[in-house]
Amino acid sequence: MGLTQKLSRFAARHTANRWLPLNKGRGVVSFSFDDVPASACHQGAMLLELYQARGTFYICGSLTDGVEQNQPCHSVEDLRRLLENEHEIGCHTYSHTNCANATPSFLQEDWERNQAFFKQHGITNHGFAFPFGAYDLGSKLAASKRFAYNRITGGGTQTGRADLSALRAQALYSANNNEDEIGALIKHTASEGGWLILYSHEVSETPGPWGATPALLESALQTATQESCQILPVHKAIDFFLS
Ligand SMILES: [Zn+2]
Repeated sequence: MGLTQKLSRFAARHTANRWLPLNKGRGVVSFSFDDVPASACHQGAMLLELYQARGTFYICGSLTDGVEQNQPCHSVEDLRRLLENEHEIGCHTYSHTNCANATPSFLQEDWERNQAFFKQHGITNHGFAFPFGAYDLGSKLAASKRFAYNRITGGGTQTGRADLSALRAQALYSANNNEDEIGALIKHTASEGGWLILYSHEVSETPGPWGATPALLESALQTATQESCQILPVHKAIDFFLS
């Protein structure tokens, strides 16, 4: 990353914040899935439901009924089922765009296209997750105008307050996390009354570098339940902290 890009990222991180106070005295864990592979809608959603939990699925309309990383993506039918079961569907751009490199007009058109896709399928959309966690000041400002919240990547538990314009999320990847590390983060979230947003892609016994095994997902659900965390989709977690 060059100096100009670093400065832009620094400015983006520290400008246009919309602070949400996290002072409910109770931890919240949110489970989210990006892109989204079909296995997250099936295995992933079913595991969540087993724990009376619901997740957030950030959808690119261009991937619907498609294939990504040699895996089948979600279908229109999968989206219908997620909606029926009260999961949240969020925007992840239409074409899985790197927003830090996109022109403002390209981004607006791309967001409009995903919005039209959602409307066509009766989906109400509140939030947005930046593909690759990539953003700059311009795209952060533009996304903040359009969406109730924006999710980035970047790891760890948010305590005290969270920036609705750049909500941090922790990767739930079997390739780099073990159950103990995620468990410790959840316990910290519970004791601090903070908010941990987890994100993954596929849920599979043999996940690629950006996916989780059912065992890792279930262990996170178990620990969050044992620690008396609320498990909420991202937009419902915001409602909880605002209530
Ligand atoms: Zn993505």
